[in-house]
Amino acid sequence: MPNKDLIVVAGGGGFIGGHLVGEFLRQGKKVRSVDIKPIDEWYQIHKGAENVRADLKDKASCVKVCKGATEVYQLAADMGGMGFIENNKALCMLSVLTNTHMLMGAKEAGTVKRFFYSSSACVYNGDKQKDANVTALKEEDAYPAMPEDGYGWEKLFSERMCRHFREDYGLQARVCRFHNVYGPFGTWEGGREKAPAAICRKVAEAKLSGAGTIEIWGDGEQTRSFMYIDDCVYGTQALMRSDVRDPINLGSDELVTINQLVDIVEGIAGLKLKRRFIRDAPRGVRGRNSDNTLIKQKLGWAPSIPLLEGMQKTYRWIHEEMQKRSGERRRAYR
Ligand code: NAD
Repeated sequence: MPNKDLIVVAGGGGFIGGHLVGEFLRQGKKVRSVDIKPIDEWYQIHKGAENVRADLKDKASCVKVCKGATEVYQLAADMGGMGFIENNKALCMLSVLTNTHMLMGAKEAGTVKRFFYSSSACVYNGDKQKDANVTALKEEDAYPAMPEDGYGWEKLFSERMCRHFREDYGLQARVCRFHNVYGPFGTWEGGREKAPAAICRKVAEAKLSGAGTIEIWGDGEQTRSFMYIDDCVYGTQALMRSDVRDPINLGSDELVTINQLVDIVEGIAGLKLKRRFIRDAPRGVRGRNSDNTLIKQKLGWAPSIPLLEGMQKTYRWIHEEMQKRSGERRRAYR
């Protein structure tokens, strides 16, 4: 792609968006990064990008930020881990405004060759996720529709919007269903964090404070797969370049229980904690894994970074963030 082409990343102040912007800049591309948060609160502030603060629920803002763009990556969404999406269904569904208006903005720009939409494994039918011994989810398992209430319904609806913008207006949309992405520069505290970051934080807290216990949501036997951010960034670009028009899984198929994930983090931190299971906490589905048959067939590739390797990097980053924080507190106290 020649340098003059402009890539717009919506949600660039967030976890995945921040990594994508960094990668595009490394490739010498021109990037406009947009987020609703004040710029000094973005997880990564890339000086080489045009950084814009805007509320993309508003159509006029979407039209403005899409102006002149050749590619749009739409990752802006009000979202978080299970604790957040179970308790904020209306807020999650309001992201439909962002997705719809970004599609309209991209269409109106008249220059957009490709539009990327980040859907989620939460679109899958809940009936197929009741057993911890899962059958991995294939793309067709989203129908008949019975997605995660709130967040999942919005994602499924927006997937279809992408499809109809392509069919009716010729906007070349590409849709990935991300399965649990984790890594450095993501949310690790505050209520929106997901299991890998939450467990790293809890283990690091125990290490720094000397506490001997860790709280686990549910019985710890629920199963999931987790994709490291580098696989997510690579797969997103590969899909964008492909001719795959229908939504496709982008996730790891290395299945673990939450207890096994805790074992991994304890191993990295070099300690063993007593587990206290909070059985009435939000847990989500009982088991979920990504079936990667289609992505291997279409892209000749699938996420493969081992969980242990990705968690080592993630734990190290969260531990350092916490140390920085406590150093700052000590300095403020003096
Ligand atoms: P994130 O919360 O770190 O990033 C999303 C960003 O969107 C945030 O910085 C937020 O401020 C911004 N945003 C929200 N509403 C906005 C608005 N109205 N206008 C402008 N910006 C707005 O989340 P993430 O993990 O980077 O996820 C990115 C996308 O991928 C989201 O659409 C999410 O639903 C999807 N996804 C993520 C995962 C995952 O495991 N991280 C899994 C499935 C799908």
